[in-house]
Amino acid sequence: MILSVGLLLAAAVLAIAAPRYLHLTVAPHRSPRLALAAWTGSLVALLATLAAVPTALLVRPGRGVLDSAHACMENLRATGSLPWLPALEVVLGIGSLLLLARLVTVAAIRTWRHRRDTADHLRMLHLIAEDRRPGPGAEVLVLPTDDPLCYSLGGPVPTIVVGRGRAGVPAALAHEYAHLAGRHHRLILLARICAHALPWLPLCRQAPDAMAGLVEFAADRRAARVHGDHRVQEALAQWSVAPTPGVAVLLPASPASAAAVTLRRHWLAAAPSGSTRGGRADYPAAAAISLAPAALSVGAASIAVTAVCTLLAG
Ligand SMILES: [Zn+2]
Repeated sequence: MILSVGLLLAAAVLAIAAPRYLHLTVAPHRSPRLALAAWTGSLVALLATLAAVPTALLVRPGRGVLDSAHACMENLRATGSLPWLPALEVVLGIGSLLLLARLVTVAAIRTWRHRRDTADHLRMLHLIAEDRRPGPGAEVLVLPTDDPLCYSLGGPVPTIVVGRGRAGVPAALAHEYAHLAGRHHRLILLARICAHALPWLPLCRQAPDAMAGLVEFAADRRAARVHGDHRVQEALAQWSVAPTPGVAVLLPASPASAAAVTLRRHWLAAAPSGSTRGGRADYPAAAAISLAPAALSVGAASIAVTAVCTLLAG
C-alpha cells in the first residue's frame, strides 16, 4: 500500500508537472537530443510507474527500507482502525489495471495500423520509384520529381525517399539517416500511442508535438556534425524557397512547412559552437531528469504515509 501510494504520486508528478520542467530543456542553445531523451524517458517512467501500481498492491513489498512503515500499516489493518483501506486498495488496483488494459489495447491497434500503412506506402513508392540505391542501413528510393522531396520510413525495411532533385544533397540524406539511427519514428509512435490512450494527462497530450519538433532539430544537428552547419543550412534554404511540392506522393507536412524550416534554421544557427559535436552527458542527464522526480515522489509519499500511520497508531 505504501509503495503504491508513492508510485501514484510519482505518476501524478510525471503526468502533470513533467511538461513544465521538460519545456525548460527545449531551447535552441540546448541539446535537442537531451530534450528528446528527457521527454521519452519521462513517458517511459510514467508507463512503468502505472504498471508497477497493481504489482505493488498484489505483491505488498514491505521489507527493507519500508519495513517499519509496513509493520505500522499492517498493525492498523489488523486492529480495524482503517476499515476503508481494503476498499481503497481494490479501487486503486482495478483503476490502474483498467488504465494498463487501455494502454496495451491502443498500443496494439496503433502499432498494427502503423505497420500496415507503412507497408502500403512502401509498395506504392516501389511502383513509382525510378531508382533504388542501397545505403548504410537503409534503402534509398529516388522518385521522378524535381520537388525537394526527402523523408524516411522506419520499420523492418528502413527506407529514405528522395526526389531526383534532392538525391544529390548529402546533408538532406544525412538528416534522414539521423532519423533512422535515432529510432525517431518509434519515439513519435510511442508519443502518439500515449496521447491517444491517456489524452487527459498533460505529459501524454503534449508529447507528440514537442517530440515531433525535437526529432527534426536533433536530426539537423547530427547531419551538421557530418557535413557542417552551412551545408545543412543550404539544404534547408533550398527547401524553404522551393515551390509547393507536387501531389505524386504524400509529404509529411510539418517538417517541410515554411514555418518549420525557418524554425529549424534558427535552431541550427543558435546552437552553441561545439554543440553539434554531440554531448556524452546527454543520456545520463536525461535519465536523471526523467527518474529523479519519480524517485523523490516515492520517497516523499513513503515518509508521509509512515508519519501519518505512526500518528494514527498513537
Ligand atoms: Zn526530418
